[in-house]
Amino acid sequence: MQPSSAVTVEVDLGRLRRNVEEIARLTGVEIYGVVKADGYGFGAQRVAEAIKDLVQGYYCFNLQEAAAAELWKRTGKPTLAMAPPGEGPSAEDYLEHGARPGVGTVQHAALLRKAHPILSVDTGMQRFAVTEKEIDAALKAGEIDEAFTHGTRVEHALTLRRMTEGRRLKLHAAGTALLEEPAAWLDAVRPGLAMYRGIARVSAPLAEARDSAGPAGYTGFLSPRHGVILCGYSNGLRAGPCVVNGRRTRILEVGMQSAFIELQAGDRVGDRVTLLGEDLGESELASAWNCGAHEVCVRMGAMGRRVYLE
Ligand SMILES: *Cc1c(COP(=O)(O)O)cnc(C)c1O
Repeated sequence: MQPSSAVTVEVDLGRLRRNVEEIARLTGVEIYGVVKADGYGFGAQRVAEAIKDLVQGYYCFNLQEAAAAELWKRTGKPTLAMAPPGEGPSAEDYLEHGARPGVGTVQHAALLRKAHPILSVDTGMQRFAVTEKEIDAALKAGEIDEAFTHGTRVEHALTLRRMTEGRRLKLHAAGTALLEEPAAWLDAVRPGLAMYRGIARVSAPLAEARDSAGPAGYTGFLSPRHGVILCGYSNGLRAGPCVVNGRRTRILEVGMQSAFIELQAGDRVGDRVTLLGEDLGESELASAWNCGAHEVCVRMGAMGRRVYLE
């Protein structure tokens, strides 16, 4: 996907902070702010800096992300970065970037011991994590004092606690899906989506607006008046709801680099079409697009030029 030069992505860093403060108030435990995938499309570096006093550290999918966003240099807070299978960074590489590797094999635990690894335990996901019978070997090999699991149900957190009982480990399991489950909070939470909800307004101006002369577009849609924005599926857009002049309307058809918008009398060239934001949220778009809210965030965040509101 490529960003469209016509699209503006306004990221409200104040709203981001309020979201994180709300999570802190609710759970009362440490927070690892998840900033993988360039902060869910909203810019890992700016997101991380905006919340640095509210979090214990960050979570990235890999070390390259933490290094690219200079998380250690800019915040002085550690990042938990997974060590995915295959040839990966060395312990020295992790240390250089103030990162701790999340290890999911005994071999990785041994190899990255000097970087103070965190153990990833499989409680059902069956990906990037040790099985129950490998736990003790991995803890020993990596001299590990902290373990986590990727939990989506409260049972996953409880299973992590049971599997590591008596080992005196710091434990965490909960992402956004488990923030309403006190039993899943353990010693820390790792929210991603919950930090980003409602922080962005994505919009593009109408490049054309006209009263329709009969069936229009690729499919011959019928609408008394329609407009065009310079953003299409190559920029990540899909058909669905949008907002024009404070009123709900629809993206009728999406082309490669432009899209047709249903308009009313009075809508003019230059009026902004809001694709995400105002009262149109990630969850509503996720339903319309038949995907998850995470996917809506990464598509929308990368759709245009980012502007940050403090
Ligand atoms: C992405 C991720 C999270 C955050 O997930 P959300 O649903 O966005 O809160 C937490 N933990 C791990 C291991 C992840 O990969």
